[in-house]
Amino acid sequence: MFNEVTSFAPGRVELLGNHTDYNQGLVLSAAIHLGVTVHARRNNSTRITISSATNRRHAEIDLPSIERLHTEPWANYPLGVIQMLRQTGFPLSGTAIDIDSNLPLGAGLSSSAALEVATAFAFRELYQLSIDPMGIAKLCQRAENEFVGVQCGLLDQASSVFGQDGKAILLDFRTVTAEPVALPAGAILLLASGVPHALAGGEYNERREQCTQAAAALGVTALRETTTAAVQAAKMDPLVQRRALHITGENERVSRGIEALRHDDLTTFGELMFESHRSSRDNFENSTPALDCLVEIASQTSGVYGSRLTGGGFGGSTVSLVNRDQAAQISESITKEYFQRTGIRSSAMLTFPSKGAVILARRRE
Ligand code: ADP
Ligand code: MG
Repeated sequence: MFNEVTSFAPGRVELLGNHTDYNQGLVLSAAIHLGVTVHARRNNSTRITISSATNRRHAEIDLPSIERLHTEPWANYPLGVIQMLRQTGFPLSGTAIDIDSNLPLGAGLSSSAALEVATAFAFRELYQLSIDPMGIAKLCQRAENEFVGVQCGLLDQASSVFGQDGKAILLDFRTVTAEPVALPAGAILLLASGVPHALAGGEYNERREQCTQAAAALGVTALRETTTAAVQAAKMDPLVQRRALHITGENERVSRGIEALRHDDLTTFGELMFESHRSSRDNFENSTPALDCLVEIASQTSGVYGSRLTGGGFGGSTVSLVNRDQAAQISESITKEYFQRTGIRSSAMLTFPSKGAVILARRRE
């Protein structure tokens, strides 16, 4: 039996396939090199104590009476995971949890899922729980949906679990499977728009609702079951129709993007990224002027294959696929131009597809 365990779970970047996860669609994502570290230690009590070095907060609660904390909302992510594990029937005991992270919060890189997955991995190891990797991803999603109260899809958690060094991950949310895809030499440049996203603002849930409406109007169980041509031909509310066109377009772009990567064709893949952004801007309306500006500058910068908003949208970051040798110079020139146009200093981060969640250390009694 282990007494102490340290786990790590990465953030993720969605390369192509926006808002498709909850429509049973396709996403191409990658884990990034930054993430959340969780140190979990049995404390011979019934107490769950949680401290985060990131926000220097502390929360505690009795295991048998776990409930959502209104005063320490950040603690609901790990607490939700613990509660879901208990509801699944796993016997747990009192645990002290220390969180550390080098992932920016609320920047669209999915620190929430990284925190959930790192917690789940630590508990699985500490209590030797029998739960498979997709089971962990789903349980973490349920924690965020039911305990935290954010209706996120499975993308963030699955990417954090299934990431691989040097590989993008193709996630199919109809079959609920993950498959590594080689990403030929190219670096991933993340540029924060400097306007934090606010998924709690209701837009995310509203888009989900519109996708459900679109599927119902088209007579399909999920938008994955239909095509851009069928949506274009249908008579339906124009706003709902545009939302549906984004989803079907994204699914099609992911399929075409995988094909392009198989042929080492980063130019075509990059074009699909630009198309994806235009669809976010015009059809799904989850972009912002700041994100549009970053993508426009990227499109005029040499060495950039493609660029688009990544994650939920309504703020957050863009992802660009760039020539590895020119990456530093590209990053500098885009951020400079962005500052000249908007007065906002964008923080840039260069990353490569990285490993998924792991156990870093374990210690027996
Ligand atoms: P994102 O997942 O894109 O980073 P979210 O709003 O979904 O943005 O999740 C961010 C929230 O997750 C933070 O506001 C905080 O409540 C919680 N969180 C993530 N990482 C940490 C951490 N290291 N320490 C404490 N809370 C964290
Ligand atoms: Mg999140």
